[in-house]
Amino acid sequence: MSQEIETLARMLKESRKVAFFGGAGVSTESGIPDFRSEQGIYNTINSFGCPPEEILSHTYFMRNTKTFYDFYRSTMVYREARPNEAHKALAKLEAMGKLTAVVTQNIDGLHQAAGSRTVYEVHGSIHRNYCTKCGKAFSLDELMAMEGVPHCDQCGGIIKPDVVLYEESLDSRTIEKSVKAIEAADMLIVGGTSLNVYPAASFVSYYNGKRLVLINKSTTSYDRYANLLIHDSIGKVLKEAVALLETL
Ligand SMILES: [Zn+2]
Repeated sequence: MSQEIETLARMLKESRKVAFFGGAGVSTESGIPDFRSEQGIYNTINSFGCPPEEILSHTYFMRNTKTFYDFYRSTMVYREARPNEAHKALAKLEAMGKLTAVVTQNIDGLHQAAGSRTVYEVHGSIHRNYCTKCGKAFSLDELMAMEGVPHCDQCGGIIKPDVVLYEESLDSRTIEKSVKAIEAADMLIVGGTSLNVYPAASFVSYYNGKRLVLINKSTTSYDRYANLLIHDSIGKVLKEAVALLETL
């Protein structure tokens, strides 16, 4: 057991309102690749002729809906992915009454699959899909079963995933709840993000406490502000820290 894990477990012990803010690195341990990684960008340009940020834009969705869905179905949706140790440890912390909210940039729904209840998905979710004309809701299974551009069986309108695309604004209510949870927290754990993607960095600035923990495999732009900095696997670290917390 490393000193860092002991410190993290002790900080969790002392805290009553822990908020977690997570990025793509939380999901990569479930086998979901980060489309912003060098490999992801390279593969997308090779197959689609432009970077993922361009395909995942509102303009592209409106103009090239079929290609958008080819990319979306093949690169953004991983139905076989299961929650990893990070998701499970966070669900456990919530069940223990320690954790108040998970704020995530991921759209895969794995926190809920692990049992987390208060999850704010700032970039939306692949599990919610709506008809752009009449608003009818469709499950991920329904969307994936349709070929080409998915159309509403009720009115014929095009179905759009409830995922925030580039050029689109974030859902203000989700942002408000996320900011409130972070402001009210007496401990903030930030994991699996280099904090370079908007609005990640701005979220961290709402935290007022003295227990800012950064867990990421590589360095982040906020490393110097962390009260505890761990450059390691988020799943491994959280699993070990929660196991130790239970013995304290
Ligand atoms: Zn419709």
